[in-house]
Amino acid sequence: MKKNDSNIKKAIKYLNNNECIAIPTETVYGLAANAYSDKAVSRVYKLKKRPSNNPLIAHYHNLEDCKKDCEIDKTFKRLYKKFCPGPISFVLKLKKKSKISKIVSNNSDSIAIRFPSHPLTRKLLKKINYPLAAPSANISTSISPVSKQDVVDEFGPKLKFILDGGSSKIGIESTIINLIGKPHILRLGGISSKLIYKLINPLENKNKKKIRIKVPGTSKLHYSPGIPVRLNAKKNYQNEAYILIKKRKKIDKNYFYLSKKSNLKEAAKNLYRTLRIIKKNGYKKIAIEKIPNKNIGEAINDRILRASKK
Ligand code: AMP
Ligand code: MG
Repeated sequence: MKKNDSNIKKAIKYLNNNECIAIPTETVYGLAANAYSDKAVSRVYKLKKRPSNNPLIAHYHNLEDCKKDCEIDKTFKRLYKKFCPGPISFVLKLKKKSKISKIVSNNSDSIAIRFPSHPLTRKLLKKINYPLAAPSANISTSISPVSKQDVVDEFGPKLKFILDGGSSKIGIESTIINLIGKPHILRLGGISSKLIYKLINPLENKNKKKIRIKVPGTSKLHYSPGIPVRLNAKKNYQNEAYILIKKRKKIDKNYFYLSKKSNLKEAAKNLYRTLRIIKKNGYKKIAIEKIPNKNIGEAINDRILRASKK
């Protein structure tokens, strides 16, 4: 407990000095910096080698804090009440008087925001008077990190501090929903589309038009393990790592299970960790069994489809 408190103090010191650090969240680890500071935010882009046109998600402690920077409405409040803090991000209109660095939103008048539920990061957010701009703590286009060691493997000594919060419980990025115009999901993630659409009142939104915005993070090549990935594989070929949704009776050294009994939440949690282990073991190819496309399985399929693109 004491160790956590002193680590949070250290983290704040770095952040106040416009440095970026890694923070644990329930989805994946984030590379965090003061979202009000151009200098701090630029460092995130540089370290991640992230294209400057790909905006960052700003992380807040609570609703009151985010109201300083963005416009909120009934639909937002309903989703917030049900899912926050948790693995959902909202694209909202920026307020004119917002102090968010223009670099965070790529000069646009919208911003993506989130309220992470990891207790350490919540404690940290409570103690600072600025939101944290935090994309996933990995080099651009590679696999998101779900533990402190994954972040070390990505950045080595280039990153000065990692707040260790154990392994990420959800293990896959947040669902992003655009609430400007007619609400719609931009990226599948930790909360299923079914649960979200259940809460969106069609009558309230019937006159709104769908406003299309480009989401660079959903580009085809993303979440890439750096080796070829074959989907819906009924079997594996020689020397091919084979990712399975549930444990099989037959044991093969090339088999990697995402879950014991086809539990999709467990599978999501283990996905990125498994891809990293396979790479570390020196495999040159991956085959993945068909994953049921329901609940969080939708997000798993979205990520492995992108991972399979060349
Ligand atoms: P990550 O890098 O994993 O944190 O992913 C963040 C995702 O949020 C990327 O796909 C971004 O393109 C998307 N994003 C961030 N800000 C915005 C915004 N203002 N509008 C639309 N998408 C955004
Ligand atoms: Mg990312």
